[in-house]
Amino acid sequence: MARRPSVVAALDQAHVWHPFTQMRDWLKSEPIVLTEGRGTTLRDQHGRTYLDANSSIWTNLHGHRHPRLDAALRRQLGKVAHTSALGLASEPAARLAAELVQVANTTGPAPVPGNPTLTKVFYSDDGSTAVETALKLAYEFTRRVRGPKPSPRFLSLDGAYHGDTVGAVSVGHIDLFHKAYGGLLFRADKVMAPYCYRCPFNRAKPERSDARTHRSCQWECVGAVEQQLNRARQSGRPVSAFVYEPRMQGAAGMIPQPDGWLPRVAALVRDHGALMVADEVMTGFGRTGGDSLFAGQSEGVVPDLMAVAKGLTGGYLPLAATLTTPSIFDAFLGEYAEFRTFFHGHSYTGNALGCAVARESLALLRPARAAAARRTLESRLRTGLTRLWELQAVGDIRQCGWVVGIELVRDWTRRTPFPLAERIGMRVCEAMARRGVLTRAIGNVVVLMPPYCTSQTELSQMIEALYDSIDEISPTSSVSKPSLRHSP
Ligand SMILES: *Cc1c(COP(=O)(O)O)cnc(C)c1O
Repeated sequence: MARRPSVVAALDQAHVWHPFTQMRDWLKSEPIVLTEGRGTTLRDQHGRTYLDANSSIWTNLHGHRHPRLDAALRRQLGKVAHTSALGLASEPAARLAAELVQVANTTGPAPVPGNPTLTKVFYSDDGSTAVETALKLAYEFTRRVRGPKPSPRFLSLDGAYHGDTVGAVSVGHIDLFHKAYGGLLFRADKVMAPYCYRCPFNRAKPERSDARTHRSCQWECVGAVEQQLNRARQSGRPVSAFVYEPRMQGAAGMIPQPDGWLPRVAALVRDHGALMVADEVMTGFGRTGGDSLFAGQSEGVVPDLMAVAKGLTGGYLPLAATLTTPSIFDAFLGEYAEFRTFFHGHSYTGNALGCAVARESLALLRPARAAAARRTLESRLRTGLTRLWELQAVGDIRQCGWVVGIELVRDWTRRTPFPLAERIGMRVCEAMARRGVLTRAIGNVVVLMPPYCTSQTELSQMIEALYDSIDEISPTSSVSKPSLRHSP
């Protein structure tokens, strides 16, 4: 259907440079211009509607134009939009900080020994700045407690993504980004991530939908962390901080950790006197399911530093926070002239509108019946996804709560990946958009991360669009798959 390109599309193509986008491709066709949203539905410039199956890049929790979030914002607008946190306090920022630490320390039935208490909140603007803050705090804390030599050492997981600022890229391990900015970065060690589907130690055959459920190994991935920690200690420059995403690595390709990985690793890291630095930017605020608002809690782990952003405001405004402990906070106390201050901050720190809407979002998330409703839909999503297993191109179905990654492969019997240049993931997402469902892929992994307001019908529509799009895009082979014994 040839339509005249909209004015907005033309202005966009003339002037807007999009993130992580090959702009030559972008300029080839008229982009979707989103104009309105309500609940899970978004509407474009031509009046077409779409389901927001990736929660507007993992930010939205309760749907668009939620009446309570809208009202909270309006109430705050009636007072003041922004005031500086430099030398001044504000009500929404103070109240939100108190509420955040209240929810950040609850653990499930089995808290891991040595858990600290998170009591302090440092605000910033997005996931990258929240991680950057955590890294600077860990760095400076280590130097003050252990002395400046040897210099602090960071350890993070293979494939990790922690944001785009220079420090956050340094602790990430995505080769493409490291190649681009290598000269700007500091060195961080990496250790294997528990990627059960492609684990060299997993002796199970790839015959069931979620590799974690048919894993056969001796926790070699935990052993690898232990070896790294030992090597660093023996070298005279021990690891100061372990940076990780709890339960599920997001941008690394939606890689979920098997139950028990995190508490085992936490015990080792603490044994070596290193800080646990949790990046809950993607996983926070109930995304990984169950009753826990933060992913680490479901494994009983409270970190020393915790970065939150994406879902903090329910997807409304850019606001982020780094939570930390009294002992880290205290290392920055002193007489003025000692200059032990944390020299770091942003103009919009603790923005009043962001904090007001974040408080309302927490109020929506916290009641037990809200958690129960999330659990119900989460299990319906689980049931719905089992259908995908019959597709030849589906190698691994990874679900952790409301986060789903479907890894597409050329040959499921050998886990042979599609070459990235074939853009299989992107093409499946383009086919889904034609079917009225918006999401994005990470390489060959198609992501589903619907907002919590998604109805069962909408969930089914998303899964159907995904099924039909994979079926349309991927070549089929004739090897028949074993049927599922248990759901993914
Ligand atoms: C998105 C993301 C970041 C970066 O957040 P921005 O708001 O994009 O700067 C950091 N860590 C994780 C785990 C993320 O998913």
